[in-house]
Amino acid sequence: MSTSISSRALPVLVAGGGIGGVAAALALARQGFAVKVLEQAPQLGEIGAGIQLGPNAFAAFDALGIGELARGRAVYTDEMVMHDALDERLVGRIPTGEAFRARFGNPYAVIHRADIHTSLLEGARTHGQIETLTGTRIEAVQQEGDTVTVRDQHGQVHVGQALIGADGVKSVVRQQYVGDAARVSGHVVYRAVVEKNDFPEDLRWNAASIWVGPNYHLVHYPLRGGEQYNVVVTFHSREQEEWGVREGSRQEVQSYYRDCCPRARQLIDLPKSWKRWATADREPIGQWSFGRATLLGDAAHPTLQYIAQGACMALEDAVTLGQALKRCGNDWPQALRLYERSRIARTARVVLSAREMGRIFHASGVERLVRNDLWKGRTPQRFYDAMEWLYGWKAETCLSED
Ligand SMILES: Cc1cc2nc3c(=O)[nH]c(=O)nc-3n(C[C@H](O)[C@H](O)[C@H](O)COP(=O)(O)OP(=O)(O)OC[C@H]3O[C@@H](n4cnc5c(N)ncnc54)[C@H](O)[C@@H]3O)c2cc1C
Repeated sequence: MSTSISSRALPVLVAGGGIGGVAAALALARQGFAVKVLEQAPQLGEIGAGIQLGPNAFAAFDALGIGELARGRAVYTDEMVMHDALDERLVGRIPTGEAFRARFGNPYAVIHRADIHTSLLEGARTHGQIETLTGTRIEAVQQEGDTVTVRDQHGQVHVGQALIGADGVKSVVRQQYVGDAARVSGHVVYRAVVEKNDFPEDLRWNAASIWVGPNYHLVHYPLRGGEQYNVVVTFHSREQEEWGVREGSRQEVQSYYRDCCPRARQLIDLPKSWKRWATADREPIGQWSFGRATLLGDAAHPTLQYIAQGACMALEDAVTLGQALKRCGNDWPQALRLYERSRIARTARVVLSAREMGRIFHASGVERLVRNDLWKGRTPQRFYDAMEWLYGWKAETCLSED
């Protein structure tokens, strides 16, 4: 054990109280640590939007002891379905019912983000060892011996035995230790949640549904027992984009979907208000841990959303961190090396696969014809085989044996 008696009495600091940060806090508390979560927002919470969860997320929930809480709040879809947004042609359909569950040991689901966050917080509350400080933005990190000190915007310092940088896509912790630039995609995402009564009856499918068109796509799925629907539309912007969020404009969205078939176009006429995200990712990096500080979730591997795995990866990260500490007898330097060794290739594959999937979604011309032929006649079994690397993740085998 390289942790001295004095530093062992200190909490582990977690920067950021998003899905990744709260999951990490829970994993650390389960491993016997006192944890202090520092969140810049005035309160802990999540944006009002849905999220898709692969079976790997449920494996992570179980490992964090909140499997039943999360399962109770999810909507279980029957299939994932893709249509061509120009001519309504069916491009691919993957059943996610019984056979899918049997294959991966867990379901495919859609859920409101706040419901994941609440489940994680409820799990965290059963461990009295997690303190959360809101309105606390960390601005600088310093390490000395086996302690880590962070300074917040009020000039206050917080001392811990380690720091988990779960501070999202614009991570201060990553900026300090890595300092790499973001890759702004030029893709813009608009998101909204729509009440069932306002959602078109002919699109009320119990499915994670996507309409793919030239330089754009549209996604919709049910939330909260089908009482609401999540709508997400994405397009390649004509403007020079900067990574960030702002209020959107209905006219802007509509200007990008002029050739979209009427059925899918209904989606962009629905929301009363939209939020607009200009997205980015970063090149995968080969080191996340620096002394007693490490990165987790979007801070470690920000990704485009095209394979719906960013939050799933953050949950897996949290479980893996806890398992690495367990395996290494809570020796931080050794555990952090094992953690990053176990995670880097897998999360990089997600980042790179998401970029490629974006290209497939947004294909035009002959590339579009290739895309529409890609999955013709493919059996569910063959789809499941192709997804095994992603959805087959298990907590019991999450640590690298290299
Ligand atoms: C359009 C879209 C759709 C998506 N769909 C899916 C999906 O279907 N499935 C899926 O798995 N993933 C999806 N994702 C990805 C997912 O949203 C993220 O990967 C996930 O939320 C990352 O969680 P996180 O905790 O790492 O980061 P965040 O959620 O960004 O949390 C970071 C937290 O840190 C706080 N913070 C930031 N800086 C500081 C600081 N200096 N000090 C203190 N606190 C700080 C922030 O306020 C925030 O609360 C999608 C993303 C987008 C954009």
